[in-house]
Amino acid sequence: MEKLIERLVNADSISGYEETVRDVMKNELKDYADEIRVDKVGNLIAKKGKGSPKIMLAAHMDELGMMVKHIEKEGFVRFELVGGWDERIIPGMRVKIHGSKGCVLGVIGLKPPHILEKEEQKSPVKAKDLFIDIGAQSEKEVKKAGISVGDFITRDGGFIKLLGSRICGHGFDNRIGCAVMIEVMKRLKNFKGTVYAVGTVQEEIGLVGIRGSAFGINPDVVLALDTTIAGDTPEIRASEAVTRLGKGPALVIKDALGVINSQVRKWVMETAKKTKIPLQYEVMSGGATDASVVPMIREGIPSGSINVPTRYLHSPVEIADMKDVKNAVKLVMECVKLANRYF
Ligand code: ZN
Repeated sequence: MEKLIERLVNADSISGYEETVRDVMKNELKDYADEIRVDKVGNLIAKKGKGSPKIMLAAHMDELGMMVKHIEKEGFVRFELVGGWDERIIPGMRVKIHGSKGCVLGVIGLKPPHILEKEEQKSPVKAKDLFIDIGAQSEKEVKKAGISVGDFITRDGGFIKLLGSRICGHGFDNRIGCAVMIEVMKRLKNFKGTVYAVGTVQEEIGLVGIRGSAFGINPDVVLALDTTIAGDTPEIRASEAVTRLGKGPALVIKDALGVINSQVRKWVMETAKKTKIPLQYEVMSGGATDASVVPMIREGIPSGSINVPTRYLHSPVEIADMKDVKNAVKLVMECVKLANRYF
């Protein structure tokens, strides 16, 4: 499964430009689905089984990124942020600009500390004051490399293995959710009903793809598969930690947009207990997942979100534990098998 996560992380795709990761997912799912299609806005929908209950799994395919906004006469590239960035971590980052002639490497430059004013040293640089240096010396040279306004930019870093079962990379939010969904579809046998595995678009910029896909499929229940904050690091109080690495996947009980449906809560909690899969409960004031808007679709569709704990969320060095990833796969499979008792 690590190889699958690596393939997904290396499929450069930001919100609105999900084609590359969708192709990887389609290729992984095609032999394990009865039907597979891409809808009008770009969501990938793979279907397996028949009849009731109709269970929809949803994993967003997009990750944070940037977009070319302006090219300076001297050859520097100004950019716009796409998604929920922490602007403190942008300077010094390596990036890839995806232009018409393929990928161009660059770095986000900044003033050296030697020439910083006193006030500048104290406050983080704003993204709007930063630029990408691709080695070009003129606007003409940038354009010749195939770069133009509107091109998307991804982080360059890839996937690495750390000690034990820990892995690190960018875009684990939500390539890990995508990997969990793919693995569930590959292994799922002997269940009642229909499972829809949906790779959604543009979650990071407003939970966009889930709305139309859940409306169209009209399932009995939706389970979003995503990542969440693991705050088991120094300087984060236990009360703010949300989840811990290695203690199992987390069920969202409350997030910024609402509280979980009671029947879904019962279904997931009882399934975890019955099958002895560790489960953490996530209660937080910020953040949301695709599941958050599902109760507002049609006459209301029950939903929940099963998230894999991830440290340094939304940074280029997110860390997860393969034990949690594997337990998330097991839990979702068991939930699907027992779904007919609840929906
Ligand atoms: Zn996410």
